[in-house]
Amino acid sequence: MKSRAAVFHGPQAPLEVREIELEEPGPRDVLVRMAAVGICGTELHSIRGEWTRPTPSVLGHEGAGVVEAVGADVTSVKPGDEVVLSWAPSCGECADCRRGRPAACINLHRAIGNGTLVDGTTGMTIDGETLYRGTATGALQERLTVTEKVALPIGGGVPLEEAALLGCAALTGVGAVLFAAETQPGESVLVVGAGGVGQFCVQGARLAGAETIVVVDPLAARLELARELGATHATDPDGLKALMKEVAPDGADRAFDVVGNPETAALALRFTRSGGTCVIVGIPATGERLDLDFAEFNRREKFLTGTMYGSEDPAVALPILLDHARTGRLKLRELLGATYPLEQVNDAFDAALAGIPGRVLVLP
Ligand SMILES: [Zn+2]
Ligand SMILES: [Zn+2]
Repeated sequence: MKSRAAVFHGPQAPLEVREIELEEPGPRDVLVRMAAVGICGTELHSIRGEWTRPTPSVLGHEGAGVVEAVGADVTSVKPGDEVVLSWAPSCGECADCRRGRPAACINLHRAIGNGTLVDGTTGMTIDGETLYRGTATGALQERLTVTEKVALPIGGGVPLEEAALLGCAALTGVGAVLFAAETQPGESVLVVGAGGVGQFCVQGARLAGAETIVVVDPLAARLELARELGATHATDPDGLKALMKEVAPDGADRAFDVVGNPETAALALRFTRSGGTCVIVGIPATGERLDLDFAEFNRREKFLTGTMYGSEDPAVALPILLDHARTGRLKLRELLGATYPLEQVNDAFDAALAGIPGRVLVLP
């Protein structure tokens, strides 16, 4: 079976749009015709050479599409159904899977590091050679084979371009605020970094009923978007100290680092109130370490934690988000940045690297 894919050869080379070969779907597999794929920060790590993963590979793990065919044992979806991809085709058996955290699955993360699916295969070749999968998915192509449990039905009412955002950015950002931090009505929230996931943290804070929602980002256009989505205050990094002194002088009840580098994590922790919770949402470059003041923990009793994919099973969290999206409480259209056809995938990555507000989408 053929597909057309954006093939990644390494950080120095442009992506190459090529015909590739897909294995026939197995009995528990679903073949999805991809409609929209978001460019996530994870992809940018690969493009910048901050991660070393096997190549050639197909990047992309945030997407939505229409089921084209299903294996004999598939029961949850049928051809013609619209689906969102979850990028957590977990093993279902390890300790993390058993505690309801498929995105933390040890076997999934081993597979992601190896550029494969959990069973060690990739199901794709190019010129007869193995073609690896970014984030155990490889969505930047026309047709994609996934296991049944990661093709989550939409059930109508949300356009595919908007639904694509639910697959990573929304589950991660909204989940960080609602499920990882368990933000409560009336609380104050600080969001460090207003990229795609950061904007969903803002919306998660609004959905949780937070009273004060502060966003910090160097780009003015992103701050403006954050205000539209529910931020009560937004500033560039230089203005943060004065703003926090004014609106949350004790620090934020919940703070989120949505960038994932040592400086932004330390900043989020610094502006967390005593006894408050700081959550690391952004994924760092390989090898980054945190250098933190002990006093934040013993004298000021702060909590520091991290989240992967919103700290909830996507199969549980996605229907909640879809419900919010259908009723307009979760805004998706406002978060659509530029869109590009698959042939212009390199322009899409340039736009994402430039940090334009909203999500850059590729429409395969
Ligand atoms: Zn992602
Ligand atoms: Zn597992």
